[in-house]
Amino acid sequence: MSVLSIDSLETPRFCGVPTFMRLPQANSREELELLDAAIIGLPSDSGAPFRTGARFGPNAARAMSIMLRPINPYRGLNVFERLRCADAGDAPVVPGYLIETLDRLEASVGTLVDAGVAPFGIGGDHSVTLAALRAVARRRGPLALVHFDSHTDTWDSYFAGKEYSAGTLFRRAAEEGIVSPEHSVQIGMRGSQFASNDVSQSADLGYEVVTTDNLFKIGAEALAARIAARTAGWPVYLTFDLDFVDPAFAPAVETPEAGGPTAREALDLLRRLKGLDLAGCDVVELCPPFDQPAQITALLAATVLAELLALKAEAT
Ligand code: MN
Ligand code: MN
Repeated sequence: MSVLSIDSLETPRFCGVPTFMRLPQANSREELELLDAAIIGLPSDSGAPFRTGARFGPNAARAMSIMLRPINPYRGLNVFERLRCADAGDAPVVPGYLIETLDRLEASVGTLVDAGVAPFGIGGDHSVTLAALRAVARRRGPLALVHFDSHTDTWDSYFAGKEYSAGTLFRRAAEEGIVSPEHSVQIGMRGSQFASNDVSQSADLGYEVVTTDNLFKIGAEALAARIAARTAGWPVYLTFDLDFVDPAFAPAVETPEAGGPTAREALDLLRRLKGLDLAGCDVVELCPPFDQPAQITALLAATVLAELLALKAEAT
């Protein structure tokens, strides 16, 4: 199996089955064992407290990812010459049944991790990240979490005392011991709150929280340094909720929050990250029914994931 993407100067982008960035597909254990990283769709919206539709996120991101080219000029490398990578398709889910869905997602992501492959997930509402964290932590031990989001997602329950949701997973992850909050950072929190402790509840769990206001106060370079220091020596799981970005640039999300970074500012942050031991990552909360014909949120989701592949490639 070749692990290079199709050359879009030879074969037009709109030809063929759209895998992520026109990568080959990996299906068998033998194919997975050739890889450093694999894209995996996590197509569930069974944990969404607000807009549904993120089950269509993975294929929407793939469809726009055909626009992306293999060379990342910000890091000065050809991603797929450094990183052996393929698209591992989608994990199966049980629509409407979140706990069963999380079990299936965990099993699929676990297949990648068992083969020595770093999972690069495309969601899916944010609850899918709990499954990925479980799968990666089971093999790598507790993880340092780097979490971009306008929300903390550390509420204790959401509706009728239910434990699992896109709004509770980082409390569950701390309770399960699969992340180490003391080595983790949440970035981008902003907007109105249910209760005055919506943000401080994360600090109470041990997470460091950098609100959108603080992010703009300290600047991108200082933030990158803080993330590197906080996670040093730990395997990192990076999760990027697209509502971190202002809804003018990322309208197709479950729970938009006005007043966030532009797409350019968000990508600039990712391009400044250095030297993380990236054990896995994901881009979540892409909700294509709200994306309108231009598909700008899907394009941004694909671009974010490509930047994370470049971060991994640089360290490989
Ligand atoms: Mn979230
Ligand atoms: Mn959010």
